[in-house]
Amino acid sequence: MDITHEDLVRGAGLRVTKPRLAVFAAVEANPHADAAQILTIVRDHIPTVSHQAVYDCLASLADAGLLRRIEPAGSPTRYESRVGDNHHHMICRQCAVIIDIDCALGEAPCLTPDSPQGFVVDEAEVTYWGLCATCAAHPLSLTPN
Ligand SMILES: [Zn+2]
Ligand SMILES: [Zn+2]
Repeated sequence: MDITHEDLVRGAGLRVTKPRLAVFAAVEANPHADAAQILTIVRDHIPTVSHQAVYDCLASLADAGLLRRIEPAGSPTRYESRVGDNHHHMICRQCAVIIDIDCALGEAPCLTPDSPQGFVVDEAEVTYWGLCATCAAHPLSLTPN
């Protein structure tokens, strides 16, 4: 039997609510969406849901480890339901598309510093920045004029 969102939410010790399940499903269907996008999607199903309720659901699901937060510099926090596999992200500087990249090692941390100075490293957060294939073919000038 497949594990449902309901099972996962309950297994994480959270109360199963309609908004929580809708938020979970919206993130799963739209990996790397930000909270504003998730709100729009959830409102298609539950028109009366409040902004705050959706933000609270995202926070509780992320805190419970069911969603992963991605916080690229200069952009709002994004969410995804692909958790626990230490994958990385490639982000296009021009159109901001985010692409999942499997980790070469699979286990965190996949990069270890030469001299950790006694620091116990448990994760290396790797973000690749550049241009996606579409934007690389049609680069906009990044400076005015
Ligand atoms: Zn792009
Ligand atoms: Zn991802």
